[in-house]
Amino acid sequence: MSVKKKPAQKPAEAESPPLGEYHRKRDFSKTAEPEGAKAPSSRRTLAFVIQKHAASQLHFDLRLELDGVMKSWAVPKGPSVDPSVKRLAMQVEDHPVEYNTFEGIIPEGEYGGGTVMLWDRGAYTYWEKDPDPVERLREGYAKGDFKFELKGKRLRGTWVLVRLRRGDPEKPQWLLIKHRDEYAKPGFDIVAEENTSVATGRTMEEIAMDKSRR
Ligand code: MN
Repeated sequence: MSVKKKPAQKPAEAESPPLGEYHRKRDFSKTAEPEGAKAPSSRRTLAFVIQKHAASQLHFDLRLELDGVMKSWAVPKGPSVDPSVKRLAMQVEDHPVEYNTFEGIIPEGEYGGGTVMLWDRGAYTYWEKDPDPVERLREGYAKGDFKFELKGKRLRGTWVLVRLRRGDPEKPQWLLIKHRDEYAKPGFDIVAEENTSVATGRTMEEIAMDKSRR
């Protein structure tokens, strides 16, 4: 069966060089964020990270490795471990895999200026046993029905990102939803309960004050 391609639904970055938008938006002589490059696509263990980012609007950046870059979403309210809660996730430009260790301060006036905390990190994979989990992830992402399992310090178990058919197709909006499994916690507000860096144990205020440490 041949499937007709719908160009409007293809991710914008498919036609442009990897990380082009990421590099265009940043002045690496001013920000401590990594310049980074596309990583090998053949890694078997894929990384995920969530960064809490106090920019002009506080949000959480969810990043999932796929084909050598971190697919990225800004989640204004952060993830919820309650399966009845759907969280808006606005897709943003791909980030380099090197970004996964970034915690610190983006200077005021620069793109995304503000404090960044490593809020969670770990590995992720397809949400079911499969001989080719990476291909299943790729298909799910392309379809806009992106199912995965997180193996982080704070977030575990199965999740889905569902792409919405609204807004700018170049900047798709998705919903992030926890699947019902043994890691689901109805009624639990994990972003209110977990306020420190998984990397350094620091609060946002401590990261913001420590200007020398990037
Ligand atoms: Mn951000």
